[in-house]
Amino acid sequence: MDIAPNKVVRLIQLGFYEDALKSDTPWLCAGCLTCSTRCPKEFDLAKFMDAVREIALEKGVEISQKNIIKFHNAFLDQIKSHGRSYEVGLVAEYKMKTMDLFQDVDSAPGMFFKGKLGLLPHNIKDRKGVKSIFKKTSGK
Ligand code: SF4
Repeated sequence: MDIAPNKVVRLIQLGFYEDALKSDTPWLCAGCLTCSTRCPKEFDLAKFMDAVREIALEKGVEISQKNIIKFHNAFLDQIKSHGRSYEVGLVAEYKMKTMDLFQDVDSAPGMFFKGKLGLLPHNIKDRKGVKSIFKKTSGK
């Protein structure tokens, strides 16, 4: 991360929106929720980072981490299609978007045998509901 996550918040608070939106930090935030669950002020930093990413995309801010944006979009496409993450679909879509077909390919068998990669998606029941959320929030 080029700026500490708490400093991204501070930049926004102080009105330095462009510096915050151009930062790599929101794109490198894994959304692990460690900060959100431990914050004594109950500030949901992971959700904040989500918002910063979406605002950066909406405003067309130039992001240096191009492949992360492709990953972000591939992840959201999986959520839109299945209502939850479908790892094989995510990997396939990400690889097609980046054409980096062999990166990390050696870790696939281990993940598969540990049950981390299901061959078929497990769709949620209310996929239409999820699609309508995407429609309402993105106009797509
Ligand atoms: S959600 Fe996880 S990765 Fe993101 S800022 Fe919080 S602790 Fe860091």
